[in-house]
Amino acid sequence: MDKDVTASDGEVQKEDSLDVLQSTQTVIKEALDKLGYPEEVYELLKEPVRMLTVRIPVRMDDGKVKVFTGYRAQHNDAVGPTKGGVRFHPDVTMDEVKALSIWMSLKAGIVDLPYGGGKGGIVCEPRKMSFRELEALSRGYVRAISQVVGPNKDIPAPDVFTNSQIMAWMLDEYSRIREFDSPGFITGKPLVLGGSHGRESATAKGVTIVIEEAAKRKGIKLEGARVIIQGFGNAGSYLAKFMHDAGAKIVAISDVYGALYDKDGLDIDYLLDRRDSFGTVTNLFKDRLTNKEMLELDCDILVPAAIQNQITSENAHNIKAEIVVEAANGPTTLEATKILTERGILLVPDVLASVGGVTVSYFEWVQNNQGYYWSEQEVQEKLREVIVKAFNNVYNTAHSRKVDMRLAAYMVGVRKMAEAARFRGWV
Ligand code: GLU
Repeated sequence: MDKDVTASDGEVQKEDSLDVLQSTQTVIKEALDKLGYPEEVYELLKEPVRMLTVRIPVRMDDGKVKVFTGYRAQHNDAVGPTKGGVRFHPDVTMDEVKALSIWMSLKAGIVDLPYGGGKGGIVCEPRKMSFRELEALSRGYVRAISQVVGPNKDIPAPDVFTNSQIMAWMLDEYSRIREFDSPGFITGKPLVLGGSHGRESATAKGVTIVIEEAAKRKGIKLEGARVIIQGFGNAGSYLAKFMHDAGAKIVAISDVYGALYDKDGLDIDYLLDRRDSFGTVTNLFKDRLTNKEMLELDCDILVPAAIQNQITSENAHNIKAEIVVEAANGPTTLEATKILTERGILLVPDVLASVGGVTVSYFEWVQNNQGYYWSEQEVQEKLREVIVKAFNNVYNTAHSRKVDMRLAAYMVGVRKMAEAARFRGWV
């Protein structure tokens, strides 16, 4: 497949989505209880307010029609239109999309964006589809969900295995249906179609900024710090580059095939050059560790940027890092969060660490709405300001309320939504 259609905002493999939804609900409940909200607020927020399932027929290259299942979840629109990516992956489930939409609400709350959370997904194997089949699937999905989305309703974006080319097809299909150009319908677009500078690397840039803030709190200098990154997709690969440029030593990286390790630091530019469009590179090397072994290696900063449930009660005691930054969604279980926190490891949770993407998506949407476009420098300055503020807010909440960073992030993330729903008279 063409390189352009495959870079993604992260990577996933098999995910335990039931656990993901349940553990999200558990922490939402805890956060609302801590903030003193009544049960009915939880009843409203524990599931998306709207969940659409669609069937998308696509004529494949072999001439046969294949019917795909897609989802769009809108968690809560009390604050504003819902917003969130669309993932293309064989393991997508309805529960997973629901949980991911709740996370988007929390992310929007943490960075104080005027959005609620949304998420979409299509059960498919993009790594085995042609360019033409992907275009047909993307357009079919937009036709199927067109009634419930829109620039002031619900705004899609890239996610796992979707990218700016797919956003461009989706935008084009939406504009044809509506019969007017509507760049604010979707974000993560190519620059020439109203995309924003800095969007493609935004998730990794956000992770880099939270790492800088976390390192300051731990008295760790980035220059020479030993970093392990699990996952070499959009987030992992850009992050490796940014950390390398900041003088850190990337001692290990991994992909679905395994991990590469060098205690003196890997040659990141070489690996980036050899990486394929789905973020795989380790299969080119004989000397590999397993992902499991890699997580327990000696390092200062560990960044799981791949799949869910990687740090569990089984290996949390063996993690050597002083800082764990969740660039993936849900890499650490709730039990493991407790263990890491008790061990004095600073855990930056997913809903805080991965806000860079949606933040620059918001900038893109603002630029589309005003029809006035910002420079790369302007985007980067605004992004830094927003992320540093969000980090401080969560970190200070964790300390003042004596809760772990995940619960603190949920408390910060859920508050505005709960307040907005109350002012509207919903609960
Ligand atoms: N898919 C990204 C996320 O999960 C970005 C969403 C967006 O830009 O709206 O945060």
